Amino acid sequence: MELSGEEEVLFSDVSVTNYFSAAVKMSQAPDDIAYIGRGPDPYTPVRFESQPVYVQAYHQETGVIMAYSQGGRHGAPDPDLAYELMLETMSRLNYDPHVEGQEAEPVSSDDVVGFSGVIPYFPLVDSAAFAAGFYQKLDAMQGNQRTYYASALSGFETVEMALRAGKDIVHSYILR
Ligand SMILES: Cc1cc2nc3c(=O)[nH]c(=O)nc-3n(C[C@H](O)[C@H](O)[C@H](O)COP(=O)(O)OP(=O)(O)OC[C@H]3O[C@@H](n4cnc5c(N)ncnc54)[C@H](O)[C@@H]3O)c2cc1C
Repeated sequence: MELSGEEEVLFSDVSVTNYFSAAVKMSQAPDDIAYIGRGPDPYTPVRFESQPVYVQAYHQETGVIMAYSQGGRHGAPDPDLAYELMLETMSRLNYDPHVEGQEAEPVSSDDVVGFSGVIPYFPLVDSAAFAAGFYQKLDAMQGNQRTYYASALSGFETVEMALRAGKDIVHSYILR
């Protein structure tokens, strides 16, 4: 499907966030861990600089733990940096906090079961585009060229939000 000139202009304001995921064998970490990145205080958001911001043992029977990283230090996606920070972080987490005094055992590339590389995720418009009426312009384009736009771009990027956007289109433009 080709985008029209009007669509090209509007959607050029949409950018994406670099996202990475990894699966790592952790010999010492317990199978009930979950870590979420924290800022320096509760009011300062975490800076996404390619480091893991979320770690969870989803597949407890396997000893494999998932790590999710986001963002970039230098603007452009940097999978090598994300990989390095993932290994560094997981190395520091590879111990059992239930066992007093246990030392963390470094993990290496041999322990990495999978690494996604960069995934373009979390489409968003920045505050300048938002203030310049991105969403009003999008609404004004609904139904033109026999096209309706339904996506999670109006909320947080999940399947639920995409479904809601589809329902909104039906109620606002089709069934009204
Ligand atoms: C790594 C990752 C993990 C995620 N995890 C979760 C999760 O755990 N839970 C959750 O709820 N959501 C998750 N999401 C988000 C979820 O996948 C999206 O919110 C959802 O898929 C958005 O649905 P959509 O229909 O708007 O877009 P999409 O599913 O992206 O569908 C758009 C489709 O349009 C096609 N397309 C694009 N351009 C053109 C063109 N010019 N012509 C024709 N076709 C075109 C694309 O190929 C694609 O098939 C995740 C996303 C990623 C990337």
